[in-house]
Order: sequence, then structure tokens, then C-alpha cells
Amino acid sequence: MFWQKEIELMDTDALRKFQLEHINKSIKTAKNSQFYKKQLDGIDKIDNLEGIKNLPFTTKEDLRNAFPYGFLATDLKNAVRLHSSSGTTGNPTVVFHTAEDISNWANLSARCMYTAGARNTDVFQNTMGYGLFTGGIGFHYGAEKLGMLTIPVGPGNSKRQVWFMQNFRTSVMHILPSYALRLYRTIEEMNINVKKDLNLKIAFIGAEPHSEEMRKKIEELYGIKAFNSYGLSEICGPGVAFECPCQNGLHVWEDFVYPEIVDPKTLEVLPDGREGELVFTTLQRQAMPLIRYRTRDLTRIISEKCSCGRNHRKIARITGRTDDMMIINGVNIFPIQIEKTIMAIPEAGKNYIIEIFEQNYMDKLCIKLEINNENFGGTLQDLEKLQHKLENELKQEIGVSPLIKFVDAGSLPVEEGKAKRVFDLRKK
Ligand code: ADP
Ligand code: ZN
Repeated sequence: MFWQKEIELMDTDALRKFQLEHINKSIKTAKNSQFYKKQLDGIDKIDNLEGIKNLPFTTKEDLRNAFPYGFLATDLKNAVRLHSSSGTTGNPTVVFHTAEDISNWANLSARCMYTAGARNTDVFQNTMGYGLFTGGIGFHYGAEKLGMLTIPVGPGNSKRQVWFMQNFRTSVMHILPSYALRLYRTIEEMNINVKKDLNLKIAFIGAEPHSEEMRKKIEELYGIKAFNSYGLSEICGPGVAFECPCQNGLHVWEDFVYPEIVDPKTLEVLPDGREGELVFTTLQRQAMPLIRYRTRDLTRIISEKCSCGRNHRKIARITGRTDDMMIINGVNIFPIQIEKTIMAIPEAGKNYIIEIFEQNYMDKLCIKLEINNENFGGTLQDLEKLQHKLENELKQEIGVSPLIKFVDAGSLPVEEGKAKRVFDLRKK
């Protein structure tokens, strides 16, 4: 059941004590960097966890401004790895690791995978990107530490993916949710019965926002269990928070990070249960500790005890990033609200995009979505009816009337990495 039983089952009091001690260690280490030397000038420690509220925040902008080495908190001789965020939003930022950081990260990833049921008898196929992006290499090290036979295929080349799955009886895969749906299409085209001909049992899905409906779709199509995996390069990469078999929230590994939720506008700390921006303080990072790093990801902390026995608090599924919120005629909308509604209808296919444009000085939202030919065999009139039905359902969910356009399966653009869903065509 547990990869590191003492840590995973640590009781709350012990965890809080550990956290206070390690926040103070992180402050000390962080001050070896140019950035924190200034930022934490005059601050050496906090006396209790409440005291964290008095520490300044660190933002993505700070990381960018301190490019290239401003956050390095150790001698270059101790730094062994550089990663960079994928730059979904703006310029990339760089992150450093010591050998100890890499080893701790591998342990965290192994802990996540073990929690989901992966064992050393499994064959693990890693379809995440390798390289500067942390998705692939992060879980790669963890999978090897766990002892799985690890196949570092990387993304794309779907036929080759399926070939490996078939021949080596892959039982565990690590995959972007958007790619899981596309890969399924290839499996169908190859006339392979995913449930009978393949040996898949578990998928780790993450690195991009996705809805519960999307997870269900993946689980049903493949006949597997799919676990939500959350991470970000700045903290290490995948391994920061992960779902346990209860599948209702992701345990944040609180021996590794101290989580807070703040109001993104006022920066006031919110009590557990309230939704806001997730903020992390690292507890064990050596090369690049981060103090109160604002992730821009929106979620809430679930502090109720989990029936798996772990006391590490959970976060709810990420509902969006503060920077991917769309403002349509003054109404705030997150792409995930749209996905939730369309993924719940059987006629919806496996890909969609959202376009925003201007018409008569008003914002217009258009959702193009692929049709699922298996579940839709109707006439043009039926299609129009379906479009209207979906327009109404979406209006209720998001408060704005969208335009729905069904398009042929496979006709929308796809990315090799994280899916790009929103195209804002308004004049800036
Ligand atoms: P970038 O910010 O350039 O995308 P990263 O590759 O570090 O760089 O991606 C981290 C971000 O990916 C997170 O901050 C979050 O927005 C998103 N993300 C990662 N895992 C998940 C997940 N399971 N659910 C939703 N979003 C996720
Ligand atoms: Zn649990």
C-alpha cells in the first residue's frame, strides 16, 4: 500500500512540526541565492506556521527577472540539472537541481506511482515529453526506482506506441489526457481491441487541466483506472500531488511542500475548503528552494481525513489557471467548464477548441468540436438539434451563449505536447 509508510502515515502534528522546521531550513538555504538574499533581507526564520503569512510571495515574474542564475542557491559544483517550464504562458523559466534534489524527486514520483498500484512487475510506458519539459524524465526516474520495466518512448508516433504496448504487454502508462484520447483513435484504426488485445491497467494523466468527465471517458474507453497527477517544473515537475485509490482529490506531499491557498487579488490566505490560488513553499529543495511561490493554479484544499489513511492534505482537481481565464462580455469563464459539459455528451468526439472573436462590438465564443461517428449516425437536422441542445446546456454552465460547430473526427489541429484549446482572435 505504501512506498514510504512512516512519511505517508505521519500524523498531522508531526507533519506540522516537520514543516515548520523545514520552512526555516529552506529560508536559510534560499538566502544563498541572489534573489532571496534581497527578498528575505532581515528575515531568518518564522516561529510558527502562522508566521508564514509574513513572508513575501515569489512569482513567475520574479523567476523570469532573475534569469539566468538569480535563484541558484548552491555552488555550481553541486548543481547537476537544469529544467525549464514548457512556457505555456510566456517566456520559459529555469529550475536547478542538485543530486539530492533529483533523488528526492524520484522518490516522490515512485511514491505517487506506488500509491496508484504500480509495482515492480509492471511494464511502464512513458509517453510524456523528455528533455527540458519535466513530464517525461520526472516519472522516468521514479519508475526505475520503483523497479518497473520502463520504456521511454516519449510523445507522438502513435503506431509505435501501440506496437510497444502490444509486444511488451505495457500495463502502466503516463500520458497527457488529450493525447490519451487521440491515441485511442489510432488503436481503433489499427483494428486492435484495447481491452482484449492490450494489457493496460493504470494510467497517470496530468500536466494539463482536464475534467472529471474527461477522466471517466479515458477510463471507459481503455477499461483502466486513470489517476490525476499534478506538478509544475518550478517545484520539480510531476510528483507534487497525486490521487490515491479513493480518487477524490490529490494528496499534496506535505513533507516536500507546504501548500497555502490565497485570494489571487487580495493575496489574503484562505481557509481550507475555499477556492483560490495555490501557493507552495518547498521544504527539501537544495539547489533552488522557493518561498511562497504563486503557482497561478486555482483549486481548494480538502482537509478532511482520507480513507486511504494518509494525512497529507489533498487539493481538488485544478479548475484553471489565473491566466487562462477568458473574459467574454465581462463574464469570467474557464475552459474546463466547457470541457466538462461537452465531454458528458456521447456524441462528442475526442478533440475540441475554443475560439473567441468580436462581432458587432461584442465578444463571441465559438466551440468547435469533433463528432463521434460511433455515437452519431443522424441527419443534418439531428446535428442541428444536437448543437442547440449543447448550446443551451453550456449557456447554463457558463452564463454566455456559445456557438457550437461540430466538425469531422480528426480534423482539428493537435499539439505534440500539452493541448492548446483557446484561440483568442479578438483585436488586442
Ligand atoms: P508551463 O507552466 O509552461 O505549462 P509546466 O510544464 O511546469 O510549465 O506545467 C505546470 C502546469 O501545468 C501547472 O502549473 C498546471 O497549470 C498544469 N498542470 C500540471 N498538472 C496538472 C493537472 N493534473 N491538472 C491540471 N493542470 C495541471
Ligand atoms: Zn487518500
